[in-house]
Amino acid sequence: MARGGPIRAGVLAAQGGFAAHLGVLRRLGVEAAEVRSGAEIEAVDLLVLPGGESTTIAKAIARDRLGEPIRRHVEAGRVLFGTCAGMILCDRNHLGLIDAVAVRNAYGRQAQSFEVELDIAALGERPLSAVFIRAPRIAEHGAAVEVLARHDDDPVVVCQGSVLCATFHPELTDDLRLHEYAVALCQRPDDEMKESGSVAR
Ligand code: GLN
Repeated sequence: MARGGPIRAGVLAAQGGFAAHLGVLRRLGVEAAEVRSGAEIEAVDLLVLPGGESTTIAKAIARDRLGEPIRRHVEAGRVLFGTCAGMILCDRNHLGLIDAVAVRNAYGRQAQSFEVELDIAALGERPLSAVFIRAPRIAEHGAAVEVLARHDDDPVVVCQGSVLCATFHPELTDDLRLHEYAVALCQRPDDEMKESGSVAR
């Protein structure tokens, strides 16, 4: 475990935008590597599930039997950061890591991608510029899910225990604060991370 030592991050490199996440983590001075196996997932403190195509990534997770290692990662209180498709994979209908349901492509097609400024109190006063690309919408969530930011009325950054999710692409801007927040979560005491309530199955 990294507590006290350097944080090791892994970005699931099955498909999608893993390279940009690696770039951001390295800019933050975090040791970051692509992960593709259960053993590699086991070795990291912070696991990122990137954006991409959730159906494709879900197939790779099933093919490579990564579901259990990912669940164990979260059950051990280690931090998981899911973005866009990676957020979808965390919902009740996929890995069941957060008590929420995501609706895919809820804002329309690629051409309807947009960028907005989000107020996220946890990141300070300056708004975070957020890029939404065929983003999901969190249609429902339980009480264990803490909403850190909304766009219109929809939750767009949520947290449940050690699982942090964003429906947009924080790796595509120069503002690194959401990744920094995920890294900081790795330094929280274990008991705080595990008291997230039950993992939705
Ligand atoms: N629309 C994609 C999906 O449903 C997610 C898009 C993204 O990650 N940018 O998987």
